[in-house]
Amino acid sequence: MAGRGGGWRGLAMDAAGPMGYGPVAMHPALALLVSALAMTAIVGVRYLLASAGFAFATRVRQPGLYAGQGRQIRREIGWSLASAAIYGIPAGIVAWGWQARGWTRIYQDVHAFPLWWWPLSILAFLAAHDTWFYWTHRWMHAPKLFRIAHAVHHASRPPTAWAAMSFHPWEALTGAFVIPALVFVIPIHVAALGVVLSIMTLMGVTNHMGWELFPRSMVTGAAGRWLITASHHQRHHRDYGCNYGLYFRFWDRICGTDRGLGDFGPAPGRRADPGRDAPGVEPARPA
Ligand SMILES: [Zn+2]
Ligand SMILES: [Zn+2]
Repeated sequence: MAGRGGGWRGLAMDAAGPMGYGPVAMHPALALLVSALAMTAIVGVRYLLASAGFAFATRVRQPGLYAGQGRQIRREIGWSLASAAIYGIPAGIVAWGWQARGWTRIYQDVHAFPLWWWPLSILAFLAAHDTWFYWTHRWMHAPKLFRIAHAVHHASRPPTAWAAMSFHPWEALTGAFVIPALVFVIPIHVAALGVVLSIMTLMGVTNHMGWELFPRSMVTGAAGRWLITASHHQRHHRDYGCNYGLYFRFWDRICGTDRGLGDFGPAPGRRADPGRDAPGVEPARPA
């Protein structure tokens, strides 16, 4: 089946998909399936590599932090890989549409928009994602919805570097369409989109790993008043009804749900390590 314009290029485009599968004529349904499977694999492998990397960093930096949490970690990996498929399918469909049908506002020529738009588009994506996340996350803390959709994520007590995508499929669905929808609305350079996805992965993993990656001066300083890192999200996992945001403290602050930063004291299943400074620890401060 030839794509737009027909001819060899059309054939190649149909077959190409997001990763360029080669100039083999492929039925659009098959190309879609290949693209969805490829994206699922990419999201899954990206999760495994990032989580394994930070789990290793945790072993080096805080040996024994995940002691006794083997069963929980296996559960976190299982839910996260299921989420990879839920994220991968819409992402694969959109990636196919981008390559084969010219869908989306993703652009490849960096000069197609003014250069100032490049960093601003990243901020726009993160702000939109954060807004969606804050309100859906807060909504999922309503008791009935919590049991159905969000209890899986909070079953990690305390979470580890493997909990980044540990969501019930209902919760994963609420997040799966955000970026695939935004690329139809907000123009973004393909590399800037890569930065957005990298930030998403980095923060998803590090916010759950049980220690603060970023320097204390940043976390407790001016930037930390607006940016969310592990110290902030840790408090959500400890206290539940607060600190719902994803990247920014904006919504938590204006809605009065920001209770400040948490700390990383010994928790069930975690060994106290008095000889070691708990990095990024700050006593709760008023929002
Ligand atoms: Zn929650
Ligand atoms: Zn969490």
